[in-house]
Amino acid sequence: MTEASDSFDLVVLGGGSAGYAAALRGAQLGLRTAMVEKYKLGGTCLHNGCIPTKALLHAGEIADRTRDAELFGVRASFESIDMASVQRYKDDTVDGLCRGLTGLVKARDITYIEGEGRLSSPTSVDVNGRRVQGRHVLLATGSVPKSLPGLEIDGNRIISSDHALVLDRVPKSAIVLGGGVIGVEFASAWKSFGDVTVIEGLKHLVPVEDENSSKLLERAFRKRGIKFNLGTFFQKAEYTQDGVKVTLADGKEFEAELLLVAVGRGPVSQGLGYEEQGVAMDRGYVLVDEYMRTNVPTISAVGDLVPTLQLAHVGFAEGILVAERLAGLKTVPIDYDGVPRVTYCHPEVASVGITEAKAKEIYGADKVVALKYNLAGNGKSKILNTAGEIKLVQVKDGAVVGVHMVGDRMGEQVGEAQLIYNWEALPAEVAQLIHAYPTQNEAMGEAHLALAGKPLH
Ligand code: FAD
Repeated sequence: MTEASDSFDLVVLGGGSAGYAAALRGAQLGLRTAMVEKYKLGGTCLHNGCIPTKALLHAGEIADRTRDAELFGVRASFESIDMASVQRYKDDTVDGLCRGLTGLVKARDITYIEGEGRLSSPTSVDVNGRRVQGRHVLLATGSVPKSLPGLEIDGNRIISSDHALVLDRVPKSAIVLGGGVIGVEFASAWKSFGDVTVIEGLKHLVPVEDENSSKLLERAFRKRGIKFNLGTFFQKAEYTQDGVKVTLADGKEFEAELLLVAVGRGPVSQGLGYEEQGVAMDRGYVLVDEYMRTNVPTISAVGDLVPTLQLAHVGFAEGILVAERLAGLKTVPIDYDGVPRVTYCHPEVASVGITEAKAKEIYGADKVVALKYNLAGNGKSKILNTAGEIKLVQVKDGAVVGVHMVGDRMGEQVGEAQLIYNWEALPAEVAQLIHAYPTQNEAMGEAHLALAGKPLH
């Protein structure tokens, strides 16, 4: 093992959203920074997650818009999906962003080391037979798709989201196991291309969202012809002559060409030296405090590797927090309820803050007010031909503690929603702000006008 010629203030293991955010911010603050990545800079989000899925969803949206063009008085006919071209469009998008990120890392003078790293001491990572020494080590090795006991992902007929993103054909029919964010996004994209059924063991699709959002999404999916089975767990999957058969615990069977397993993601931590160096872990996740510190003083951890929300922007925020803390800046813990959450299916589901059920648990049922504003009353939503609602959850006579939205493009409204939640705005304060007409954003203003006791439309 050769020692690195120089040592660093910060050594980051993993170049995904969380790791590279820490490296970029650390270097900006003058920390001598090294980043070790075994695959591609940008990690899951850029190569196997956020960006490629949104490109697929956008292609699906264009297919749907073409099918529906008549509705808007435009004569167009939908012929077919050319999957090779969809893949090219998706890959060009990803490659362009990756080139930009690579340039940024170079420009910030970060030492980028390609190779599989391993934590070799509380202050070093071994990679390519070289020891990279750091005053501090940041673990950011992310996550990979999980499966269920006895369900083997073969990459052909039983696939994970990684395989789904590089499919060279349009599946004629698909079963999606799991109705969480990843599952419903693929169901939505694939329905735009073909036939799909979602199987979710819990009572609702997107089960962590406010129940009202789940019900609205289920209604919209039903209208789009996306089938789903709720409330019964998966039992087994078997190959058929030309596809897969899934059997549920109640004996119900479903058949399709493909089975996408979208039952969550698990941390990448096995065999990387974490336990040997005394890092406290739980079921493969690295345990951290609110400042992302592990129990080993020279080691922090961020992103999907730690048991917080598995979102790219959460990884960014956690990485930045660590870099700023190491550079001696004052940092504050992240309020995870204040993190905006968007599911980019059609229609979109977006939220920030807590659900009505959680608010009632915390504040008491009689102290919580909920208001629903239907997008049917919103001019721009009518123009776009989208349905949905904005639901506000307020502590009686106090701040808005939850904003829950369903409808096309509602993800774009989550910016104002997060300011409202994080600045603990009162309905009357938001009602006072003028929202542009006709925008979907205006629905946010109208909902607050109504909650403040002076509804307009
Ligand atoms: P990763 O991005 O997984 O990065 C970890 C990196 O570490 C990887 O590049 C890996 O190669 C590297 N690594 C691992 N082990 C080693 C080692 N031993 N040596 C060197 N390198 C190593 N989030 C959103 O916010 N919005 C979305 O729309 C969204 N959509 C998603 C869609 C899908 C299909 C999926 C799967 C995820 C999506 N996510 C989304 C989640 C998001 O991608 C993750 O939360 C985010 O990528 C986590 O970042 P990370 O840096 O913790 O981990």
